[in-house]
Parts: sequence; C-alpha cells; structure tokens
Amino acid sequence: MNDLPQTPEENTPSPAPAASRRQFIQQAGRGLVAAGVAGTLGAIVPSDAEAQVTLPSQTGPTDVTLPPLYASTEAKGSGPPNPQPRDQRVGYAVVGLGHLTLEEILPAIEQCKKAKLVALVSGSPDKMQKIARQYSISPQNCYSYADYDKLKDNAAVEIIYIVLPNSMHHEYVLRGARAGKHILCEKPMATSVKECEEMIAACNKVGKKLMIAYRIQYEPKNWAVQRMVRDKTYGKVKLIDMGNTQNVGDPTQWRLKKALAGGGSLPDIGLYCLNTVRFLLGEEPTEVIATTYSTPGDERFREVEEMASFQLQFPSGCLVKAVSSYGTYNTKRYRVYAEAGAIDMDPAFPYHGIQMQTFHAPDGTEHKEQPQITEKNQFAAEMDHMAECVRQNKTPYTPGEEGLQDHRIMEAIYQSARQGGKPVKLPAVAKLDAFRGSPPTQS
Ligand code: NAD
Repeated sequence: MNDLPQTPEENTPSPAPAASRRQFIQQAGRGLVAAGVAGTLGAIVPSDAEAQVTLPSQTGPTDVTLPPLYASTEAKGSGPPNPQPRDQRVGYAVVGLGHLTLEEILPAIEQCKKAKLVALVSGSPDKMQKIARQYSISPQNCYSYADYDKLKDNAAVEIIYIVLPNSMHHEYVLRGARAGKHILCEKPMATSVKECEEMIAACNKVGKKLMIAYRIQYEPKNWAVQRMVRDKTYGKVKLIDMGNTQNVGDPTQWRLKKALAGGGSLPDIGLYCLNTVRFLLGEEPTEVIATTYSTPGDERFREVEEMASFQLQFPSGCLVKAVSSYGTYNTKRYRVYAEAGAIDMDPAFPYHGIQMQTFHAPDGTEHKEQPQITEKNQFAAEMDHMAECVRQNKTPYTPGEEGLQDHRIMEAIYQSARQGGKPVKLPAVAKLDAFRGSPPTQS
C-alpha cells in the first residue's frame, strides 16, 4: 500500500491528433509498397485521400452487427456482446477477497459491458498481490482495510462493491459513502433494521447510490416467473412454497458466529425465499408466523439458528411457506401454485443452471413445459445495472430500501419465533414494488 495520490489503473492513450493519424496511415501505406507487398495488396492499400476519410471515429457508436449465418427457421444466436469501450465503463473497487469475490464476482466483471475492475481492498496482502496480477490491477490500486478511506482520492473508482461478512457491511458502507463513492453491497444488507437505516441515510447525505446485490432480481428465468405471476397466466396465485438449504461444514466459520453473521440460515439463505417472493408478487406481507430450530448438541449451531420456517400472508391472499436450513443437503427451490397451473423452479437460486418447468392442462391433458430462456451471468447483470444507474442517474432496482424491508420482515420472523409462533403483523404497503427503483434493461 502506498500513500501516493491514486491514479487510474488504465493508462488509456489519448487519441492521436488528426494530422499525425494521417501521417501514420500514409507511412504505413508506403511501407507496404516498399516491402513489395503492394503487388498483392495493391487494390486495398488506401490512397492518402481514402485514409483521411475512412478513419474510425474515436467517439461514435461502437456497436457491431453481423449478417445472419443460419436460415430464419433456426434459433438466433446472441450476436456480439458489444461492450462499451473500457475507457467509458464505470470503475469498481471490490472489497473482500473471499469465496464469492474470487469464484464469481471477479470472473463475472470480465463479462460486464458497462463495468470494469479498477481496485481491490483486502486484509491479506499476499493474496491481493496474486489476484491483482491475475486481473492486471496495479499496486497503487490495492488497498488494505486501514487504507480503505483513501479510495476517496482514486477518481477511477466510482462504485465500491462490499463483499465482506454481514456485520461489516454497515461500517464499510458508511466509510465508502464518506469517501464519496456509490455502493453495491452484498446481501444480507446488514444485521439490523437500524443499521440499514443508517446506511441509507449515509448514502443519501452525500448524494450517492446504494444498491443491494440481490442477484435473483437480475436473473431471466425468475423474471419470466414474475411476469407469469403478475399477468395471472395461470389465474390467481394462491400458494408459493420455497426452500433454501445447505449443510454447512467448519463450525468456526464466520457464518456461524452471531456477531459476524447477524443470524443463521435465515439471513444467509432463507433471505433468498423472502426476497424472491416479494419480487415475484410485488406485494409486501402483512403477517408473519415463524419457528426457528437447531439440533440440540450440534456445535455448529451454538450461536445461530440451524433452521427457520416461516409463513407470510400477502394482501392478495397468497400464502407463502418457506424454510431455510444449514443442516440438510443443498436444495434451492420453489413452486408457484396458481388456480389453473403451477410453476416449478428447481433449482431456483444457484449461480448457474436454474431450471424452470410449467404445468397446466389447457385442453384437458397436462402440458409440462421447460421454457428455453438464455442464461445470463447474474453477477455481471447486477454490476452492469448499477453501472448504468450511475451513468444515467437512476435509482437501482434493488436499492437500500429493498434491503431494509427484508430486514424489517426478518425481525418480525425472529419475533414470531421467540413468541412460540405467534402471528406478527406488519404495516400494510399499498403500492406494488414499493421499495424498488428502475427495472434493469433486458438486453
Ligand atoms: P468468505 O468468508 O469467503 O469471504 C469473506 C472475506 O472477508 C474474506 O476475504 C475474509 O478474509 C474477509 N474478512 C474480513 N474480515 C473478516 C472477519 N472478521 N472474519 C471473517 N472474514 C473476514 O465469505 P463470502 O462467501 O465471500 O461472503 C461474503 C459476503 O457475500 C457475505 O455477506 C455473504 O452473505 C455474501 N454472499 C452472497 C452471495 C450471493 O449469491 N449474492 C453468495 C455468497 C456470499
């Protein structure tokens, strides 16, 4: 780490003045002639006049389309990704180099069209040095946690992506906002409603955006289910049952420490059920009934709950039953039960390989269909969405308020569980998508 003023990672060459570009092409053309290649390439060596008018623009549109390869009866390919030029993309600093960052976020940022990695923050200098080399980040763009506030002086960093244990989100959002940066924060947003409110206030105070990384709200198959639910494709949705479970190992990991995690399976993976169902319905629950449970004597669950089971009542009449567990085999699924059909998402929440199946009987025989919807990298989609919101001054689809609402409901879940499953009422929210901002561009 050093104390020098930070410079942008990329040393983008400034566009050459028109005269010197012309000279370069003239010289290149003469070079080809001098090398005796002109005989074969003569027809395509540009004349001086052509060279002056065919120079590519440095500032115009860069999107490219290619002629179709196949007949119109074939499935269309996705075409070139058409990323924005790197010098126009929004720069991210990623904080925390653990599993999620190294396995998903850094590989995904390479696929972004509007975002790029420009800085790293970590408490492990050796690891950071290796990762910085892998991703071509220069040493002056690598920060320790103590140096984190110096991001303020790094103009290349526009967004800070916080990927730390849950209880650290609050501090790093507040410090990031004070450094004058927009923030993308991993889920769960924090460990309490109070912390969420302070995080929102801190970003508002400095006029910066705060987005919570709810990747399922940027995932195409879950969007397709949302459309079917809201369009009542199979009539009214009456029931949704959901489960997110995994068997955790190492009893010393931070996820099992209350002070670092805030809770057990509920805020980590049960949150996917809660946040996804709110996204599908667009409504907010008005009543919660819940139980939590941990296997007696299991040393992993001394501080946090192993299981949470919760029921949510929504104003439309839809009942949701969800369960999270840290002690059973990996299962990430939900089923939507509507009057005239059902939708299975199994698995519903992994990083890759989400499967959707629909069931209905429009002509008296059951149709089972698996809609073919192209998979997208969820992390690239959410990072690009945040970058677009920064460039176009839009509120992210999942802003801090969306995370705050989840924490209000999780506090009601824990309250109900503490009171032996007594129903806990939540304030009615009349507006649909009350806590969401601008929907992501569906590209
Ligand atoms: P991890 O344990 O693999 O990484 C955490 C990082 O924080 C490590 O680099 C660690 O060194 C650092 N750290 C700093 N202070 C620490 C401390 N006091 N104790 C422990 N680690 C400390 O965790 P992860 O799986 O990368 O999760 C990080 C965040 O991302 C969590 O908030 C988690 O909920 C979230 N997450 C989200 C998804 C998703 O799909 N959106 C998936 C996994 C994790």
